[in-house]
Amino acid sequence: MRDIARGWHADGLSIGLVPTMGALHAGHMSLVDRACGENDKVVVSVFINPIQFGAGEDLSRYPKSPERDLSLLRAAGVDAIYKPSVADMYPPGASTRVIVHGVTEQLEGAARPGHFEGVATVVTKLLAATSADRAYFGQKDAQQVAVVQRLAADLDLGVEIRVCPTVREADGLALSSRNQYLDPAQRRASVCLSRALGLAAEAYGRGERDPARLRAILRETIDAEPLATLDYAEVVDPAAFSSPGSLAVLAARIGKTRLIDNHDLKLPYPG
Ligand code: AMP
Repeated sequence: MRDIARGWHADGLSIGLVPTMGALHAGHMSLVDRACGENDKVVVSVFINPIQFGAGEDLSRYPKSPERDLSLLRAAGVDAIYKPSVADMYPPGASTRVIVHGVTEQLEGAARPGHFEGVATVVTKLLAATSADRAYFGQKDAQQVAVVQRLAADLDLGVEIRVCPTVREADGLALSSRNQYLDPAQRRASVCLSRALGLAAEAYGRGERDPARLRAILRETIDAEPLATLDYAEVVDPAAFSSPGSLAVLAARIGKTRLIDNHDLKLPYPG
């Protein structure tokens, strides 16, 4: 991968990277399309990163669709698919981890200890392997975006981090590879996350600024759905991931499936 990327740079070509864990859907493809429009060469990495999964999480059953991924990426016209093995990425003896402080400690970081250490480490390795000039991430994973932006700035990586809007189903559910885990009743219930964000955005639009009231709207909407259990509902600053701020962030469990979503309340809610 590094040799190919160095060859492209020697020819004066710019490189865009889209990191994914595969099981591609229209959300991933929106990042790929944007990267294709903004770079001479586009690399999509497909790597289920074991070190960002905690004990008891879904690493062993994480969805996979390699043939479909390949045909989607071919049709999109990407220049390289980088698919390292776990042994390529973490050979015996590898002991370095990238730790971002502050923004990793709350919410997703608290719910998933070690998650952002795994993310920061793999993103650093993927950026090093691909020499990317720009890397593309989804707003869907808002705290991940904050971590990656912090990482790129703090380590002077010289890569531009581009953030792409969340792609949603018609009923508002944010696309996610994990949506495949939902049975039909759970799928219907899962719309409570986007409904909660929409109601909070509506209240914000009417002038509601009290974080406790906004949090209560989020919490009550999730609590009203019998199949959903709220993990957290907060309103934070999108860079610091602490209060005060206008980014509503939510995590909830529907059965065994944990879903996250977010919306900047300053923006009108789509749909
Ligand atoms: P994943 O394969 O889940 O690691 O996701 C790879 C990239 O796709 C991450 O930057 C995600 O934030 C992004 N992504 C996932 N779902 C969506 C979505 N519904 N809309 C936009 N981007 C997304």
